Amino acid sequence: MRLESLVKPGVLAQPVYEPGRPIEDVARELGIDPAGIIKLASNENPLGPSPRALDAAREALLHGELYPDGACFALRQKLAQAYGLSPAQFVVGNGSNEILELLGHVLLGPGDEAVMGAPAFVVYKLVAMLFGAKPVEVPLDGFRHDLKAMARAVTPRTKIVFVASPNNPTGTPNGEAEILDFARSLPEHVVLAYDEAYAEYQDNPPDLRPLIREGRPVVCLRTFSKIYGLASLRVGYGYAAEEFAALLNRVRQPFNVNAIGQAAAVGALDDRAFVERCRRENRAGLGQLQAGLDSLGLAWAPSTANFLLVKVGDGAGWFEALQRRGVIVRPLKPYKLPEWLRITVGTREQNERVLEGLREQAAEKPR
Ligand SMILES: *Cc1c(COP(=O)(O)O)cnc(C)c1O
Repeated sequence: MRLESLVKPGVLAQPVYEPGRPIEDVARELGIDPAGIIKLASNENPLGPSPRALDAAREALLHGELYPDGACFALRQKLAQAYGLSPAQFVVGNGSNEILELLGHVLLGPGDEAVMGAPAFVVYKLVAMLFGAKPVEVPLDGFRHDLKAMARAVTPRTKIVFVASPNNPTGTPNGEAEILDFARSLPEHVVLAYDEAYAEYQDNPPDLRPLIREGRPVVCLRTFSKIYGLASLRVGYGYAAEEFAALLNRVRQPFNVNAIGQAAAVGALDDRAFVERCRRENRAGLGQLQAGLDSLGLAWAPSTANFLLVKVGDGAGWFEALQRRGVIVRPLKPYKLPEWLRITVGTREQNERVLEGLREQAAEKPR
């Protein structure tokens, strides 16, 4: 018997998530010292975690023999204070990727539809297909979600609409007013999953709490993987109405978030000065990269996140060329953007290095 015939519909057709290449991987392939390689491929924080997060994580590690608090009590308490919501309105996940999957557990099955942008974060499509639902992809408009077209794509079978602002892989945001209008225009049977993984990099990120207060089926997703620099520890969260958060909490594993991650996340929330510094340096880095790209004549998409979408022509070729120079960026063929690269904003020196690589490649391979 072929194993394939046992597999649920959608599983084999699922897109494969292709992560940014790990530094050790590239070092092995090139036979060079990992210390000489920089990774600007996964939108990680070049400044690392806050020292307060690290202290809290070290402390938690001393009790590694104990199961974590499955309810994430301290972290939800802290988040509730920060948002002016109740702890019962939060669900904490093994990265916000897990919350996306929990949404699938709660909402999606065969015959259902999930509306999403294209290109948008690949995990939306992955989750829809994993649960046998149909992904309905709506092309972006000027690198941001085309909310009018997404509203038109909603049918009686639509269960969920995924919107990311700023979007990944483009970095381009939608405005608060249009997002609120869009949410209020959705029929009652449609959940809005609003992914704000990069909101902390924005000056005035859209506030969707009014929608939650109005009783709309909206869940907002955030992560400690980006500005908080804790991608390795896997902590993300969602906030919604209590009833909605309770449903998501019902379908998760009992100990889905490890204690070291929980402690680090609490420590990270206490260090507002660090977050402020990361935001400032990211803004300077975006400016530095944009100016450098302009001088090379390379086009980029407007970004309020910690990465830039850059048009190089032969994305795969430029990705390889940069990698040979010890700079890992993200090729975007899986996002159907073969002419583009996604480059994470690094430190001043790292940005200089990726620009230098691009300069050499442009000189070698005039487009
Ligand atoms: C990075 C990212 C996330 C966060 O993923 P984690 O699982 O929390 O590490 C979620 N959504 C988007 C769009 C992202 O780019």
